[in-house]
Amino acid sequence: VDNRTGQLKINRSRLSRLRFLFGTSDADAILVTHLPNINYLCGFTGSSGMLLVEADRATLFTDSRYTFQCREEVSGAAVKIVSAGLVRAVGEALQRSRGTVRVAYSAGLVTVAQKEALAAAAGKRVRWVRGSSEVERLRAVKDAGELGQMRAAADLISEVWTRAVRKMKVGISELQVAAGLEYEMKLGGATGPSFETIVASGPRSAWAHARATSKLLKKNELVVMDQGAILRGYCSDMTRTVFLGRPSDHVRRLYHAVLDAQQAAKSVIRAGVTAGEVDAAARQTLKRYKLVQYFTHSTGHGLGLEVHEMPRLARGESFFLEAGMVVTVEPGVYIEGLGGIRIEDDVVVTATGAEELTSATREFLEL
Ligand code: ZN
Ligand code: ZN
Repeated sequence: VDNRTGQLKINRSRLSRLRFLFGTSDADAILVTHLPNINYLCGFTGSSGMLLVEADRATLFTDSRYTFQCREEVSGAAVKIVSAGLVRAVGEALQRSRGTVRVAYSAGLVTVAQKEALAAAAGKRVRWVRGSSEVERLRAVKDAGELGQMRAAADLISEVWTRAVRKMKVGISELQVAAGLEYEMKLGGATGPSFETIVASGPRSAWAHARATSKLLKKNELVVMDQGAILRGYCSDMTRTVFLGRPSDHVRRLYHAVLDAQQAAKSVIRAGVTAGEVDAAARQTLKRYKLVQYFTHSTGHGLGLEVHEMPRLARGESFFLEAGMVVTVEPGVYIEGLGGIRIEDDVVVTATGAEELTSATREFLEL
């Protein structure tokens, strides 16, 4: 199989599905400014560019730093190397179009200053309309190739954590644990962590999004480790909580409540349920344990080229899950002074259930 021809076909089909989506919203073109969306549609991984997708063509605007990289990476779109600013080049290209054109853009991802500059460069014949996350909706459902990459990224983080947890002990710092995790990720082929690795011990583990610090691990502490790796562009995201020493019955009970809530959420996942139903399953379980007031965030999120993408598994979300979506399931409880417990896995939504991608043990490890 010719890799590039294969990629060209994939990009063409993504672009044509995008045209179908924005066609129904009566826009003539869509200006894609979010880099992961550009990467998804035409393969470009550089850090500066804009992709204009029209009915009959797609054009990537970028600068001369990326000339060679574009030859290697981009397919399905023509490349225009510009020297006097992307916004101006895009505006001028639109100005040359005949008649009035309606161009969709992502209002949440374009700054007011960029929008004003675009409007000024494109002139009066261009009407700017708010897009409705068309590319994000396409990205939410992964194809077989993407699922293969995501399995590999999830396997990697499961192995990395399993190795790192063996080296954990009282007296080393949270930062040392985090550094060990990130070092192992790169040795395993990851380009880096998908987000800053979280290692939070003792009372700090009650901070749902704590950064690792120089705090030393102590006996009789909970340790929350939340980590993910980017492998060939795709992210993994997994949390495990361990105990240094022997946990009390109370802490053990908390752990099992969270695990139970995670299992409940996983067991309702399948194509056709709403994101809100998954969240409700986790919340109802914690309610039975009288712990729901300590569950202060949503149950999960989509995962792919970015670590947070569509859909959000949150209270009341009416978004329907579809086969091929990859989501995290990560209930937690956070009790001030005592600490926090979170267990997070990545799963693929299938027609009949949820296929687990992350596989590290969910037993309550006592180190
Ligand atoms: Zn996480
Ligand atoms: Zn997560």
